[in-house]
Amino acid sequence: NNYELHDRTAVITGAASGMGEATALLLAAGGARVALLARRRDRLDEVAAKITAGGGSALAVPVDVTDTVSVAAAAATVEAAYGRADLVVNAAGVMLPNPIGDGREDEWNRMIDTNLTGALRVIRAFLPGLRAAAAAGGTADLVNISSIGAHALFPQYAVYSATKAALTHLSASLRTELGAEAVRVTNIEPGLTDTELGGHVDNTELSAQLGAMFQAMPALSAGDIADLIGYVVSRPRHVNLRQVIALPTPQA
Ligand code: NDP
Repeated sequence: NNYELHDRTAVITGAASGMGEATALLLAAGGARVALLARRRDRLDEVAAKITAGGGSALAVPVDVTDTVSVAAAAATVEAAYGRADLVVNAAGVMLPNPIGDGREDEWNRMIDTNLTGALRVIRAFLPGLRAAAAAGGTADLVNISSIGAHALFPQYAVYSATKAALTHLSASLRTELGAEAVRVTNIEPGLTDTELGGHVDNTELSAQLGAMFQAMPALSAGDIADLIGYVVSRPRHVNLRQVIALPTPQA
């Protein structure tokens, strides 16, 4: 399960938990140096400690992707410690479903600002490194974690799904710009995955519905998605998996 990544430097947002954390652990096990980005410093420190205890190299960088200054500062910290990063994974995200009639502008803004604009801020901050790595003949990867919600329709998840559809389209569009410079862009669309994501749902009914989905089928694990990312980024330089949809087998 270990991909050969000894010459890679990765930046992973959402690395405090779930897919981001699992991806950081997997890439580090393959030899990559990993910068861990999310808001909760204590969680990042724990992940970094796990990696360094295993002989890997990790840097905890607290950041809020909704804050332009914070993202720019994080990029400077990563650059100072590791030089340019050639692998960027946008896993930070929030899912806050509610009936559209509730008019929860607070949640709409948080989801758009984290899932879409947050990814854009991170892309802007780390793009020079990706470009430079590719221009120097190395492998450069931008991986965005979207969702099957970009295509599948779920009532009450309209705004979350809209942010993910936008991210999926952003990935495909950016690829037309960056592919020519040998920067690969991969969009990953997971289905139901067992992580903390559903923990922030503040609607009792929707929380119970989500719980029932986890009862109804064996969900993917965060490690399943990390493994896919390891596979994608360790392909030969001329091979770009543009879009990967990964679902629990019974999920329609
Ligand atoms: P988690 O909640 O475990 O991970 C989300 C991560 O994002 C956390 O580590 C969180 O850390 C970080 N984060 C949230 N807001 C911010 C912010 N403003 N700035 C920086 N970091 C932030 O859930 P998942 O692992 O499931 O989520 C990873 C991605 O996968 C998300 O984009 C999600 O939408 C997507 N996804 C998840 C699916 C699932 O079924 N679980 C299915 C399809 C897609 P912290 O709070 O410390 O900042």
